[in-house]
Amino acid sequence: MGQNNSYFRHTKIVATLGPATDSPEILEKMILSGVDLIRLNMAHATPEWVNQRVQRIRDASRKVGRQVAVMMDVKGPEIRTAKIPEPIELIPGERFEFVTEWAVPSGNKGVSVNYPNLPEDVEAGKEILVDSGLIRLKVVTIHKDRVVCEVVIGGSLGSKRHINLPGVLIKLPALTKKDEVDLAGGVEAGIDFVALSFVRQASDIEELRAYLKSLGSKARIIAKIEDQAGVRNLEAIIKATDGVMVARGDLGIEIAYHELPLVQRQIVECCRVEGKPVIIATHLLESMIDSPIPTRAEISDVSNAIREQADAVMLSGETTTGQYPLEAIDVLNNIIDTIEPTVPNRINKDIILHQPKSKMLRSATYLAQELGEESGIVVFTRSGFLGYVLGAMRARGVRIFAFTDDEVVFRQLLFPWGVEPFLMNLNEVDPEDTILNSLEVLKDRGWVKIGETLVVITNVLAGESTIVDTLQLRLIE
Ligand code: PEP
Repeated sequence: MGQNNSYFRHTKIVATLGPATDSPEILEKMILSGVDLIRLNMAHATPEWVNQRVQRIRDASRKVGRQVAVMMDVKGPEIRTAKIPEPIELIPGERFEFVTEWAVPSGNKGVSVNYPNLPEDVEAGKEILVDSGLIRLKVVTIHKDRVVCEVVIGGSLGSKRHINLPGVLIKLPALTKKDEVDLAGGVEAGIDFVALSFVRQASDIEELRAYLKSLGSKARIIAKIEDQAGVRNLEAIIKATDGVMVARGDLGIEIAYHELPLVQRQIVECCRVEGKPVIIATHLLESMIDSPIPTRAEISDVSNAIREQADAVMLSGETTTGQYPLEAIDVLNNIIDTIEPTVPNRINKDIILHQPKSKMLRSATYLAQELGEESGIVVFTRSGFLGYVLGAMRARGVRIFAFTDDEVVFRQLLFPWGVEPFLMNLNEVDPEDTILNSLEVLKDRGWVKIGETLVVITNVLAGESTIVDTLQLRLIE
């Protein structure tokens, strides 16, 4: 198993599933058009929905002969308003109350929230933002079970809207009860990644890892950085996690909006140094929800993410409710194809590699780059680790062919920059057999041509029982 064409790009594409894309026909087209990871957003979803969608994604993959990874995005410590029978209109200047779950508004318009500490955490004069900051209120008075606000920017408030309190450390656990239920369902359905919302400290990741372990899951963890605490504790979070998402929707509200490009760069840079993959998310092609072409500013924003060498770019509303989901994926493909070849050829020298074998990976990238664009690296990896490190080297123009015998690891290798995974048996006793098989697979699938020279990272048996790590040049014959 493995992708079956010779098209190669470094930057990966994540698309969020929703009503616009979850019919089997659109899903097949979406997978064929080059999406690498499909995100299931649990904000409004149930484990039953996940189960059906994972089945549908796997069926579509089998039908079109191209695999994708599935990422479950659990909501973590989010404050949300209650479900209400119909939207409430908020008018600038009027009073509006947020009440704790057991209280009722005292004559003013109001709604309850799922956060009992709200009255303790807000301050008079500070802002409460609703629905990605589209509705804004100023805190006027604070009571034991309610917060009375003045509406600054009004709008229509629907059910279960997300609330941001910029700068406030929310006293909700990293994993809520709903997250645990969602995760148990997701693990059973066979998810490959879990994205955790509002990661504030490294221990949030450790908590999720322990929970996944208790479920027997090998899913890799992606930490969503979307508030000030996440940015403050960035380094420790990146060390603890398997990957990162720059969740710009919330981040752009929780910090000053004009600092967002700087914080995005800081997160991408920190991930590069730690060798962890990173996704740039939200509003990349937002206008394509209603329009078949992107704005000029969006084209520049996507280009910037590619120049920063983020591992992946992500679509949300564009593919969940948008009118042009497939066109949005095409736009990403076109921008990637145009911008990637212009990105400087600089290998990442900053990752600290501890083991001699992992140090060999950096040498392999220099060698492959020296051999030119016809070359590439072949690596065999059971855990995925070697593939992830090679991706983090950012060897522009070097194709990385990562062979694994584990189906979950295979799909997880779809995430890191420039890695093309293949699922194949790895011969325990005869490494040469494994190498020859891998080269045959690459030739058969059209990835390499006769006369090309590949760099192969492998071990060989020296004498009776000594295993030696080697870097080899192999000519395709
Ligand atoms: C974001 O805030 O950018 C994000 C991806 O998270 P969510 O869609 O859960 O708000």
